[in-house]
Amino acid sequence: MQAGNTDLLRSACLIGGDWLPAQGDKVFAVHNPASGQLLAQLPDCGAAETRQAIAAAALAWPAWRQRTAHERGALLKRWHALILAATDDLAALITAECGKPLAEARAEVAYGASFVEWFAEEGKRAYGETIPSPQPARRLLTLRQPVGVCAVITPWNFPLAMITRKLAPALAASCVVVAKPAEQTPLTALALAVLAERAGIPAGVINVVTGSAASAVAIGQTLCDDPRVRKLSFTGSTEVGRRLMAQCAPSIKKLSLELGGNAPFIVFDDADLDAAVEGALLAKFRNAGQTCVCANRLYVQQGIHDRFVARLAERVQAFKLGDGAAPDTAIGPLIDAAALSKVEALVADAVAAGARVLSGGQRRAEGGNFYLPTVLTGMTRAMRIAREEIFGPVAPVFRFADEAEALTQANDSEYGLAAYVYTRDLNRALRVAEALETGMVGINTGIISNEVAPFGGIKQSGIGREGSRHGLDEYLEIKYLCIDAG
Ligand code: NAP
Repeated sequence: MQAGNTDLLRSACLIGGDWLPAQGDKVFAVHNPASGQLLAQLPDCGAAETRQAIAAAALAWPAWRQRTAHERGALLKRWHALILAATDDLAALITAECGKPLAEARAEVAYGASFVEWFAEEGKRAYGETIPSPQPARRLLTLRQPVGVCAVITPWNFPLAMITRKLAPALAASCVVVAKPAEQTPLTALALAVLAERAGIPAGVINVVTGSAASAVAIGQTLCDDPRVRKLSFTGSTEVGRRLMAQCAPSIKKLSLELGGNAPFIVFDDADLDAAVEGALLAKFRNAGQTCVCANRLYVQQGIHDRFVARLAERVQAFKLGDGAAPDTAIGPLIDAAALSKVEALVADAVAAGARVLSGGQRRAEGGNFYLPTVLTGMTRAMRIAREEIFGPVAPVFRFADEAEALTQANDSEYGLAAYVYTRDLNRALRVAEALETGMVGINTGIISNEVAPFGGIKQSGIGREGSRHGLDEYLEIKYLCIDAG
């Protein structure tokens, strides 16, 4: 494996500071999605190990809580520095287990690390408030206190950033965590835990339970059932999020859900064509189209439509498809064969209903989990792509006549994560951004995520926000004190 420094590789789960190897044949394999190469065999944990991890976290919590925000911040900053210093190794690991091109993997390390630095500082600002009292003798104030033991479940498409975006605010808020990374990408999460250990973050504050997809159900059920776990933060599909939300209902856990998206990307006639094409390439084809904020439906106004699709198809045809570890690869593999079949089925459905393929439109002839970067035109609302998350390198272009039609179609979705708008008209940009039913809107840009801004969705794309000052709130409870000072 080209995964850099093997010093960060672990084939064990982490519970209470102990690296526990697999017991007997309870293992699962991690493969490189580009080559199929076996990367590691890891413990296939279940309910018992999950309970052990919860107990370890609960044990570590009182001492972690006692630390000052400055002390926790200093440890987080050390972790941040170690992550950045290990950029090459972590990027190689991300590429090896999730397939994204190395340049994108390096960008993910920087992006993921930025949350650690941000929350190292933000933890110091977990302010309470004093409230003017309606009665003269009373003094009213609030404290913001940590939730406690948090369960964290993450997907494979950002193996590093989805972990740090949750762990950094949790730790800064003086919570402790049990993390369950995705079956396909546990190695980056374990490498992060190695670096956290080296940074001096105490045993039991971060626990990592690894498991196969088959074991995810038992791990998830245990995390949801256990009354010691006070919060669940989940990033993944809407389907699994819905299930976890139901499982958390009996114990009324605090919830953060970052779920699926179906982002509209709207280009008006007055848009800067070059900028719109550039933005579409970034918003659509990053990570081979496998991000939750990827443009899923491109709505292009009739006056600019033909020029836009011609330019887009020309650029897309020039993309080099291949192993993310190769230096000039622009598009890596899809995560697995099931993802490839889904993309294929969505394109087949659109083509059967009259869509035209301007570029791509099929899996790579040489085999593997690769789908050719694709541009489709002649899309209609009846096609599955209009409603379903593609999670692949396919840009379906819908033609529209006016603003009202674009908005109606863009909002015709159960999802509400991100949206993009390209126009030179400031009034229209604001009007459309306000009317879009999403948690985030990119105006004349295809890239919107950073650590200082609130990331999250509405409708069935989720609950809560990550990053920004709001990200800390997800791990804090407000306690109100009423003092009779009479
Ligand atoms: P997924 O199938 O929902 O899996 C996400 C995580 O949940 C994985 O760790 C998975 O474990 C685990 N899981 C699956 N079933 C579970 C269960 N019954 N109980 C507990 N855990 C369970 O999603 P994915 O395919 O990995 O990721 C793609 C999805 O994530 C897309 O819909 C994408 O839009 C969304 N996403 C959203 C955001 C956001 O911020 N809104 C960011 C990134 C991705 P296994 O891997 O072991 O099955």
